[in-house]
Amino acid sequence: MAMTEISQTEHISPEHTITATHREIVNNWLSRFEIAVNNSSYNLIAELFLDDSHWRDLLAISGRVKTLTGINNITNELLSHLSGNRLSSFMIDPDRVQPRFATRSGRRVLEALFTFNTSQGSASGVLRLVLLTKPNNYYKAWTIGTVLQELKGTKATKHLHLNKKVTSPGQEIFSSKLSKLQIIEKSNTIEQPTVLVVGAGQAGLSTAAQLRKQGIDTVVIEKHNRVGDNWRNRYRSLTLHNQTSVNHLPFLKFPDHWPTYIPKDQLADWFESYADIMKLNVWTQTHFRNATYEQKQMHWNVNLELPNGKQLKIKPHHIVMATGISGTPSIPNIRGIERFNGTIIHSENYTDGSKWKGLNALVIGTGNSGHDIAQDLYKHGSNVTMVQRSSTLITNIEPSAQLVYSLYHEGPNLEDCDLLAAGTPFEPLKESHQILTKKSKQYDEDILKKLEKVGFKLDFGKEETGWQFKYLQTGGGYYFNIGCSDLIADGRIKLLNFSDVKDFQEEGLSLSDGNILPAKLVVFATGYKGPDFHVKKCFGTKLAHKIGPVWGFDERTQELRNMWTKTKQPGLWFIAGGLSQCRIYSKILALQIKLNELEKYSPKK
Ligand SMILES: Cc1cc2nc3c(=O)[nH]c(=O)nc-3n(C[C@H](O)[C@H](O)[C@H](O)COP(=O)(O)OP(=O)(O)OC[C@H]3O[C@@H](n4cnc5c(N)ncnc54)[C@H](O)[C@@H]3O)c2cc1C
Repeated sequence: MAMTEISQTEHISPEHTITATHREIVNNWLSRFEIAVNNSSYNLIAELFLDDSHWRDLLAISGRVKTLTGINNITNELLSHLSGNRLSSFMIDPDRVQPRFATRSGRRVLEALFTFNTSQGSASGVLRLVLLTKPNNYYKAWTIGTVLQELKGTKATKHLHLNKKVTSPGQEIFSSKLSKLQIIEKSNTIEQPTVLVVGAGQAGLSTAAQLRKQGIDTVVIEKHNRVGDNWRNRYRSLTLHNQTSVNHLPFLKFPDHWPTYIPKDQLADWFESYADIMKLNVWTQTHFRNATYEQKQMHWNVNLELPNGKQLKIKPHHIVMATGISGTPSIPNIRGIERFNGTIIHSENYTDGSKWKGLNALVIGTGNSGHDIAQDLYKHGSNVTMVQRSSTLITNIEPSAQLVYSLYHEGPNLEDCDLLAAGTPFEPLKESHQILTKKSKQYDEDILKKLEKVGFKLDFGKEETGWQFKYLQTGGGYYFNIGCSDLIADGRIKLLNFSDVKDFQEEGLSLSDGNILPAKLVVFATGYKGPDFHVKKCFGTKLAHKIGPVWGFDERTQELRNMWTKTKQPGLWFIAGGLSQCRIYSKILALQIKLNELEKYSPKK
């Protein structure tokens, strides 16, 4: 985040136009920082930071994805990475948005983007300085973000040579144009890929494109028939809930004139074309079954299942699990469900409501899918009741749900916004989301009050941090209102509290007041089993236990758990999330894999 796809902007202050003096302030801070780190001086470093400052490093200095808080922790961490690692050439980045004043997390800051070099390569940074008026006007760093951009000596692939024939020996064999049979026939002679990416959603495709840029042999496998089917197969009325301008995949932007909220089929087709244009080696209809790691040889033994049921073993150095945080449908066990003689489906299998006109339908679950499906059924003439178990965060799709992306509308280009977002540590980000949640509650006051009146249980996320933090913590539990909340508020879609449900009977739900709620259709919009389930299934309980939970914030590290960073299992990586998260962090992940490969084959000192 910052770890996320996020923006944390409340607003920019145009009245504070930057002056030469402000540039001098930034330059002065940067040159003092450079002197301080090159002298490895605790005092010189510490005096540049506020006591409650934060540093997020994405590989640039620590070689890890790391967030630190507090002057002492920051200084000590910096000092621990300076031996043999010369940091130099700190300067305001002339090619990016110039220093400016902004309000971040309620604080007025002088914000600057800078560049510097490390012994490993070139890096970028985000600096947010705060003015201390006492004892006399003085700027100290409140937050600093540092991000590795390019590894030394690996600039050759700066631009993808899209028209160039793929020359690496393994790649022709892995071409998605070959039939699976040909692949198997050639499989005795294939060069093993360095990386196996599992899943061709936004996470897998972005990562494969970034690995390709790093010149790393990569195969992507996808269990569906076609790339994009993970979106194509979802319910017909689905469009993205965040705007096109923040959702680009790496290296290739959506056309300007595309709809503000991309319909799912249009996105699916774009994904398929993207795989083609980026020359990604995607094997469709290929299932990842399981894998074990050969410690000595430092490779995996992976069992794949191909479309005709044939098994194939491959031996990549790395596996990137890009299988999503919501892969396997989860259906709660409600007493008597086997008695029910209507139709039961999970939201994953819902297409549209045309078959259910004039019939009673129950939608269990009040997240995005539940609301969208309830609204679709209502539109098709069903008599719909939604069943709510847990409190849900409701926010109007505009402007409230888009507030977290406001940075992307401030003016800087996409690349600068991504850096500003990535360079924001957890605590300031959290504060900013609390401010934005407060704002959105004001915008949405009318609908929220009406929902409360009909008994809808609301929440605003842990510590009122809003929908995006909820996504990062739990993967769901919110709805972007595009009309369904209004239907619930005025009673056109009925609401039932799960605590009033006794069990299922043949004709519908039996309620604790003795009544029966008849239904012909029950849709379980109850979400999915998280990534931990998948890890256990594919790698076994022992490995799952070794690496710990995947996804959700670790308050101690202030980062998402096991996401786009080294895990405790060599050669195993994870990536997931919204489109902008995947765009930002696929590069970080690819760089780590590249570094890992370089380390492995560099002569031992
Ligand atoms: C209804 C809904 C609306 C959403 N709206 C938005 C939105 O507006 N904006 C946004 O950014 N996000 C949105 N999301 C959230 C999130 O971005 C998506 O869930 C997204 O699909 C995540 O991308 P991913 O690549 O991490 O995972 P997925 O898209 O889930 O991709 C994982 C891929 O892995 C494949 N796979 C899984 N297991 C295996 C296996 N064993 N072998 C081979 N292949 C396998 C799957 O078939 C799938 O194609 C939405 C999610 C839902 C459910």
